[in-house]
Amino acid sequence: MILVLVDHDLGELDPLSLRALTCARTLSDAVHAVVIGGAGAGLAGVVGEYGANVLHVATHPELTDYTPAASGRALAQLVDRLNPSAVLAAGSPRGNEQLAHLATILDLPMAAECSAITLSTSPGAPHSVTRARWAANLMEDAHVHSDLLIASVLAFSFEAQPVVGAAEAKVETFEPLLEPADLMVRVMGRGGESSKGGVTLADAKVIVSGGRGVGGPAGFAQLEELAELLEGTVGCSRVVTSAGWRPHAEQVGQTGTKVAPDLYIAAGISGAMQHIAGCKNSKTIVVINTDPEAPIMAYADYAIIGDLHQVIPALTAAIKATKI
Ligand SMILES: Cc1cc2nc3c(=O)[nH]c(=O)nc-3n(C[C@H](O)[C@H](O)[C@H](O)COP(=O)(O)OP(=O)(O)OC[C@H]3O[C@@H](n4cnc5c(N)ncnc54)[C@H](O)[C@@H]3O)c2cc1C
Repeated sequence: MILVLVDHDLGELDPLSLRALTCARTLSDAVHAVVIGGAGAGLAGVVGEYGANVLHVATHPELTDYTPAASGRALAQLVDRLNPSAVLAAGSPRGNEQLAHLATILDLPMAAECSAITLSTSPGAPHSVTRARWAANLMEDAHVHSDLLIASVLAFSFEAQPVVGAAEAKVETFEPLLEPADLMVRVMGRGGESSKGGVTLADAKVIVSGGRGVGGPAGFAQLEELAELLEGTVGCSRVVTSAGWRPHAEQVGQTGTKVAPDLYIAAGISGAMQHIAGCKNSKTIVVINTDPEAPIMAYADYAIIGDLHQVIPALTAAIKATKI
């Protein structure tokens, strides 16, 4: 049996988890899902649709928001009871973090961001994985020497596939035993959410992303206007979040969110490999940059060489004109 950690934020599903479920289905017909916190119990329908037979719900008075070490503890207790052959999760920052806690508690290796997994068929033989290294600039074939495989699934390496005729997953709740140290890292408050009008970075079809070239927080107003017009949302580079111009929830890249929209507009972004790691799965990339030699040009489907402060208002005006 394969156990898949289905991540959610206060009950809102991380869609990358459905891709992890699909990956699990390629390995076994027996797939169980687990959610941390009672708010995830409402996901029984969707995880069933994507192939999970059972949804385990870890409930506890302290599991009301993201608590990664507590997730690891709850997963370890479930693994002990169910004895799965693998535990998978989405290769998101949260998925990786929770699995890393599980691996630490069980003193086992963890393979992060795998694009292919082959489970061992004979006792003692290693599992085989292909995993992304160096912001996915290198794909490494590796062997994992442990009976239980703990692995996260590289974002966008599997298409989420519903299972025809699948029923809602059977819900089984359990209360993990938590230690005080499991709750040391927890959410103290929330602010600067990137979701505008219900569109988040992870599910946006259009992202208008800004980098250092935007020049400061005020410059993002024009990106917001364009994003709104295109029914998308705003993203940014790490320089921007480090400077405090925009919240981290909007950062695209290796240490931000990995995205795969239909259209990614990169304005004033140079194209460092850590940024590209987060946006290279976009269907179409439009670059706006004053420097024709900027590294991001290598990934551009269309490039506009120019000052974004002139190009973006011109684009916005042109799109408005088509909507009249
Ligand atoms: C471990 C690690 C993890 C990292 N994770 C991430 C990550 O998740 N996401 C991320 O983005 N970065 C990440 N970084 C940082 C990354 O290496 C780069 O420093 C960062 O992406 C650069 O941001 P930028 O493109 O906005 O700025 P710059 O590299 O300074 O580029 C600015 C660009 O704007 C252009 N420009 C300037 N003015 C204008 C104008 N008026 N109009 C049009 N174009 C203009 C310039 O020509 C230039 O190309 C990480 C780095 C490390 C070491």
